[in-house]
Amino acid sequence: MTLSASVLIDGPRHLEFSYAIPDDVANHVAIGSRVRVPLQNRSAFGTILAIGEETQIDPASLKPLTALLDDQPVLTPNLVQLARWIAAYYSTALETVIRSVLPEAVRSNSHSFKKRKAAQLISPCPLDKVQIDSLQTRAPRQAEVLAFLQSHSPDSPTFLTTINKEIPGAAPALKALEKKGVLTLTDKVAPRDPHAADNFLQSNPLPLNPQQAGALHSISQHILSVPAPSPPKPFLLHGVTGSGKTEVYLQAIQKVLDLNQTALVLVPEIALTPQTVERFKRRFASIQQQIAVLHSHLSQGERFDEWHKINQKNARVVIGARSAIFAPLNRLGLIIVDEEHENSYKQENPPRYHARDVATVRGQIEKCPVILGSATPSLESWHNAQRGKYHLLTLDQRADDRKLPLIRVADMRNEARKKKDGIPSLLSEHLRIAILKRLDQNEQVILFLNRRGFATSLVCQECGYVCQCRHCSVPLTFHRTDEKLLCHICGFQQVAPAKCPECHSRTIRFSGYGTQKIEDLLHDEFHGHRIARVDADSMRRKNELRDTLRDFKARKIQILLGTQMIAKGLHFPNVTLVGILNADLGLHMPDFRAGERTFQLLTQVAGRAGRGDRLGEVIVQTHTPQHPAIQFARHHDYHGFAEQELPFRKEFQYPPYLHALLITVRSPHERRAQFSAETLAKRLRPALPESVLVTDPLPSPLVKAAGQFRFQIMLRSPSTKAMTDPLSQVLQELSFPEDVLVVPDIDPYSLM
Ligand code: ADP
Ligand code: ZN
Ligand code: ZN
Repeated sequence: MTLSASVLIDGPRHLEFSYAIPDDVANHVAIGSRVRVPLQNRSAFGTILAIGEETQIDPASLKPLTALLDDQPVLTPNLVQLARWIAAYYSTALETVIRSVLPEAVRSNSHSFKKRKAAQLISPCPLDKVQIDSLQTRAPRQAEVLAFLQSHSPDSPTFLTTINKEIPGAAPALKALEKKGVLTLTDKVAPRDPHAADNFLQSNPLPLNPQQAGALHSISQHILSVPAPSPPKPFLLHGVTGSGKTEVYLQAIQKVLDLNQTALVLVPEIALTPQTVERFKRRFASIQQQIAVLHSHLSQGERFDEWHKINQKNARVVIGARSAIFAPLNRLGLIIVDEEHENSYKQENPPRYHARDVATVRGQIEKCPVILGSATPSLESWHNAQRGKYHLLTLDQRADDRKLPLIRVADMRNEARKKKDGIPSLLSEHLRIAILKRLDQNEQVILFLNRRGFATSLVCQECGYVCQCRHCSVPLTFHRTDEKLLCHICGFQQVAPAKCPECHSRTIRFSGYGTQKIEDLLHDEFHGHRIARVDADSMRRKNELRDTLRDFKARKIQILLGTQMIAKGLHFPNVTLVGILNADLGLHMPDFRAGERTFQLLTQVAGRAGRGDRLGEVIVQTHTPQHPAIQFARHHDYHGFAEQELPFRKEFQYPPYLHALLITVRSPHERRAQFSAETLAKRLRPALPESVLVTDPLPSPLVKAAGQFRFQIMLRSPSTKAMTDPLSQVLQELSFPEDVLVVPDIDPYSLM
């Protein structure tokens, strides 16, 4: 009986073909094996997605696979199932999904394990006692090497570099011992461990407070029975900032490890949450070698090694950003998504998946519990908890009874009135005095402004001309450090003109402000104190962020000024004041989530204050002090915010009550983009069920980006399938000009 394999061919298109499995490899292939196959008159690489007995086709008619590439499959059947779900839900080719599931370093056959020379003792030792004794007198170096290997690791190869460190100049002795048949010199895989230098002190579990204990108890009940008879509901762990969610995660993971299962932890972005990662490493210091960390700063070689470490069952805890949800862990016992509301879990190119939602599906497939944790849950998750799809766990007190910081609002409209020229200063009187007071008391301050650069634009005072990016419909931002105008969308740069390009007036001036300008101002106001700026411009060098945060922790820096890079997961007990310089920045975006995002950001940033013994204070500068997002954040009132926001969403039929599908039509030619969007809308309308809401095609808020004009159509419906199925159908029938691209985005986060 011949077995056949369904093979997904590498490449941009979804090509899946059947091949016969030759008898000699039949026992070695599995779902997820990488193979070489004949394709027309060439050969191609691919991945086996299914194996079965071919009944419809005569097996003799199938071409056989040419070769099996690895002895271990690179995908588990569960991951293949997950990939199929993503392809269907996000309406994306399976091949595109597999590209995300398997890192490039693993798929492309260009990387391999790094190997180095190692010495392995032969057992039993061919020398007798007399011979060894005589070695000691006649060849002491050889005797030394032999003794070292016998005591160091008699059963496994030891790298020559290790031996040489102990016994300098050991090479001739090793050669001689090899000749005598005492040892062999082999190649051994040398893992590129990016964290090899880390050395963490073990931290011990804290005694839990009653709320934490209750949460852990509910979760544990499901951990005990993995794989559960039926998949448990995901847990939504809603805990105010500093309530000890992380401690609950750590103890839940311990339970999983005790059962010899593995755990997967997603964090928004590793580089921005170094302290969180450190806490995990510290708690599980005794199995440090079995913790894998996946993030975007790994080299291809490091990624290859970390991935294989997981695949070969040598990792028991994986911590990573978005794509770590695909880590090939076996016996998965728990998935944790920390800060589940974070936008960075949504991938902004195909497949446009949301790692939180993929996590809940993976939990169902693996039949293991999933914890979604946040101080400010997304309204999607909150709604799911309200209607019983998720199991809600609440921590409403800070652990160890620290009080939440006091939040005060500085009304910047008054600041403008106070000044003769009517131009408000960037620092309110409130905030300036509060900073002085804290500096005086030897405490530290965090200032937050979510806009980098020096000035937001260069404007002619004479004719009103604004320097715009020539590829995007946004003004260019002035960056003082390299005296350039920079586009924050596409990265285009140009020299700032001295004269207005339109009217040649020399009155061209900067307007608006970013972190660079505030940094200057802080140096003037608070000189004598060390100030550090943390944003994408200042943190280009590897490790720069880590070093800056370390200096801040060591109190070598008094004021830390930054963008959202400092909003998350940082824990500095000596920070007693947090200033939010412009709370309105995200509030007036054309996006139904603008209020939600602002509320989340303010709450997260405010949560950085008062993590030590002294009460923290937060000052929020705003021009719209009455806005609900600001008022509810001020009172630490998540429930209040959700209760006032959800009725709007319901009334206007937005998520979480309906799913959205945003279709963006792009082209370098404006008319062509618009025309194609109109054609698509016209064909789509009759194909959709009546329950689906469809907007007219409209220019995107960001109408031009990186040289592409953009038009969008938004669909909304309780069912994603009711939108994606007809869309796929219509897209198959329609043909667009070659330079037109249609991009569907299910459950979109960016509406720009
Ligand atoms: P979250 O993850 O909810 O922001 P953390 O886990 O960071 O909260 O906890 C905040 C602080 O409280 C940390 O310093 C942590 O060590 C401490 N903590 C957490 N749980 C306890 C506990 N049960 N007893 C004492 N301190 C605790
Ligand atoms: Zn001008
Ligand atoms: Zn641009």
